[in-house]
Amino acid sequence: MRLPRVGLAVTTAALVVAGSQSLPARAHAPTATSSVAAPAAAASVALPARVAPQPLAGKYVVVDAGHQLGNHHFPRKTNALVPAGGFKKACNTTGTATNRGFPEATFNFRVAVLLKRRLERAGAEVRMTRTANSQKLWGPCVDRRGRAGNRRPADLKISIHADGAYGAGPGFHVIAPTDRKKWTHDIFQPSRRLAKTVRSAFVAAGLPKAGYTAGGDGLDFRGDLATLNLSNVPTVVVECGNMRNAKDARRMTTRKGRVGYARALARAVKDYLG
Ligand SMILES: [Zn+2]
Repeated sequence: MRLPRVGLAVTTAALVVAGSQSLPARAHAPTATSSVAAPAAAASVALPARVAPQPLAGKYVVVDAGHQLGNHHFPRKTNALVPAGGFKKACNTTGTATNRGFPEATFNFRVAVLLKRRLERAGAEVRMTRTANSQKLWGPCVDRRGRAGNRRPADLKISIHADGAYGAGPGFHVIAPTDRKKWTHDIFQPSRRLAKTVRSAFVAAGLPKAGYTAGGDGLDFRGDLATLNLSNVPTVVVECGNMRNAKDARRMTTRKGRVGYARALARAVKDYLG
C-alpha cells in the first residue's frame, strides 16, 4: 500500500514542478507581444497582478486531523501509554461518530484536507500529522501530534476534532492549553489569542457556540491534553461541533458543511498570522 502512494507523491511533485515552470512562460506571453524585450524584470512586475493574493506567504502551519480511522483495529497500540506533558496518556483513542456511524476520524481528515488546500492557496506551507484516513492505519500517538510543530517551528498548529456529547445541543468549542510551568508557559498566551481568533471566525461563519460545555462561551482551557501540552508553538484543539447532535451531524456529513468549517478555520489562521 505504501509504494503506490510514494509513486503518486513523486508524480504529484513532478506536476507541481512542471506547473511552476510553465507559470513564468505564461506571464511572459502578453508582455512579449507589446514589447520587444520583455526580460525577467517585466515578468516579475506583471506576475503579482495575475495570481491570487498570498497573505500567508512564508508561513508554516501544522494541521492535525484528530484520530485515525483504523485506530479501533489496533487496541494494543492505541492504548499504549505515551508522554503527555508531565504524565502519561493513551497513544490515541477511536474518536466519536454520528448516531448513524459517520466517524469523527473521517470528518477531521476531510476538513483538514480542505483547510490545507485553502492555506496553500493563500501561500502557506502546510504539514499534516497524518496524510491518509484508512481502516488499515492507526495513530500517530498524541505525543507526536503534540510535538509536530516543534522541530521546525511552525507559526501555529491547529488540531481538528469533533465532540460526541449524547443528548446535548449543537455547537463548537475551542480548547487552548492552561498555563503549566515547564510545559505550556511559553505558549499559553498566544494559544489563547489563537483560540479567540478561531472562535470569532466560527461565530462570523454562523456556527453556534456549544452551550453544553465549558461555560457555553465556546472557549475551554485544559491541562490534560498531550496535543497541547507538548507543543512549543501556539496551538489549539478545535471541537468543530457535536456529532451526537442531529443538527451538527447533518452539517458535518455534507461536503458543503465541511467546507464551511474549513473556510472558518482558514479565516482564523489568516487573521491570527496576518
Ligand atoms: Zn476527537
